[in-house]
Amino acid sequence: MDKKFRDDMKKMLKHRFQDSPEKRILNSYDAMNRMVLPDAVAEPLTEEEIVSIIMLCKKFNIPIVPRGAGCGFSGGALAVTGGLILNTSGMNDIIIDRDNLVAEVGPGAVTIDIHRAAEAVNLFYPPDPASMEVSTIGGNIAENAGGPRAVKYGVTKDYVLALRVALMDGSITTFGKPLRKDVAGYNLTPLFVGSEGTFGIITRAWLKLLPKPEATLSSMLSFDTALSASRAISSIVASGLNPSRLEIMDSFCIQSLKEVGHPIDGGPGAILMVEVDGPTAALPDQLDRIQEVASRHNLLTFHRAENEEENESIWELRRSLSPIINNFGDTKMNEDVVVPRSRIPDLFSFVELLRRETGLTIVCFGHAGDGNIHVNVMFNAGTPGIDEKVETALHRLFEKVVEMGGSISGEHGIGIAKQRFMRHQFSEAQLTLMSNIKELFDPMNLLNPGKILPEPENKE
Ligand SMILES: Cc1cc2nc3c(=O)[nH]c(=O)nc-3n(C[C@H](O)[C@H](O)[C@H](O)COP(=O)(O)OP(=O)(O)OC[C@H]3O[C@@H](n4cnc5c(N)ncnc54)[C@H](O)[C@@H]3O)c2cc1C
Repeated sequence: MDKKFRDDMKKMLKHRFQDSPEKRILNSYDAMNRMVLPDAVAEPLTEEEIVSIIMLCKKFNIPIVPRGAGCGFSGGALAVTGGLILNTSGMNDIIIDRDNLVAEVGPGAVTIDIHRAAEAVNLFYPPDPASMEVSTIGGNIAENAGGPRAVKYGVTKDYVLALRVALMDGSITTFGKPLRKDVAGYNLTPLFVGSEGTFGIITRAWLKLLPKPEATLSSMLSFDTALSASRAISSIVASGLNPSRLEIMDSFCIQSLKEVGHPIDGGPGAILMVEVDGPTAALPDQLDRIQEVASRHNLLTFHRAENEEENESIWELRRSLSPIINNFGDTKMNEDVVVPRSRIPDLFSFVELLRRETGLTIVCFGHAGDGNIHVNVMFNAGTPGIDEKVETALHRLFEKVVEMGGSISGEHGIGIAKQRFMRHQFSEAQLTLMSNIKELFDPMNLLNPGKILPEPENKE
């Protein structure tokens, strides 16, 4: 990194530009479990500073990697070609417009703080990634994050009304307006949602809010096998019942929970966690109907939360699953495939086939209600032949998911984790189109380079 670049950055940002080993290490990883040291870290607090950083980086040909809390699962916030981490966590203000049901937020606003600010005035921001206690809205928008409530309320893209973005030509542009209806011109706002920090740096967002539901009520349903539970999910969806959360955990998750001392009765093969929301008086009846549909699929037990505390503890249990399953191996390939909801039983059957044929431990849990299942391949790194075995299993999984009409990623994004699987889902023509759009926004390929798009295929 050029000395003049460092001097200019220090002059502009003072202590908010750092290249100390400690600062670089702190910004060298996300939840993907890969470490890549950036050359330096900048922590701007204003749009003007972001524009100045872009112009300086262009002058010195330095890659820029936007970063929020660094809890992404696909390596999106890693500086894989070196360069500068541009961390927007400090731009975290939240303004609630009660009259228009809109939240105006800085990119560093933490997701749970947006929830709390909305709920303080009886409003509701539904997207609820399990990482919401730490993730920033900039990261949520860049990854189009979703959570358990997606089954009823949709994902981040369904709540982004407008975005202000710093572009690589040094301009600041606002896409969209904080209106419920607006069809003027091409709608470019969604292009930035899920673009994983490769098209521009989000500097502000306007989010749709809803009236807060009066109450929620949750229940846990246990089944003999994951296949029975997955059939129950498809039936619940097909019956037109509309749970606000509908999650699954398989027998491996149940085993992990028991090992950390969680009191789960009996030995079920899978558990569904179901929440309904709306007027208080209507909720018990909704759960009764869900129980009735589930009972057609070898339902073993049905337990309804007795009070608010128990309600919340069911969802805390769900959020705890990702780290708890590490008892099955020191390494986890955490995939987040999606299939049409009617195909969830087929996905569980296929995973069982993969387990049998490969001998791998594959743990499944997640957002079953919207077809998005976390398929976790667990193993111990260094086991002879394991890397090849896991890689082959993943290719088979993605191939099957796409064949079922699904997608290789429902919420974690591609980053560097899934680039090599992109050709299972996209044709060369589609990849070229994506690459052309990237070039339009970032002709020097300096903004988060080396992400999403796979290496071009070798041409003879
Ligand atoms: C335990 C755990 C549970 C999780 N559960 C869920 C879940 O339920 N649902 C889900 O969707 N995800 C989940 N995730 C993944 C992760 O939390 C989300 O991807 C989240 O959106 C990342 O936010 P972040 O602020 O940490 O972003 P980072 O990891 O810092 O960055 C993620 C991407 O966003 C880009 N980015 C960040 N800020 C900006 C900005 N201002 N402008 C442009 N680009 C930017 C980065 O370049 C990167 O590509 C989970 C992660 C963990 C560790």
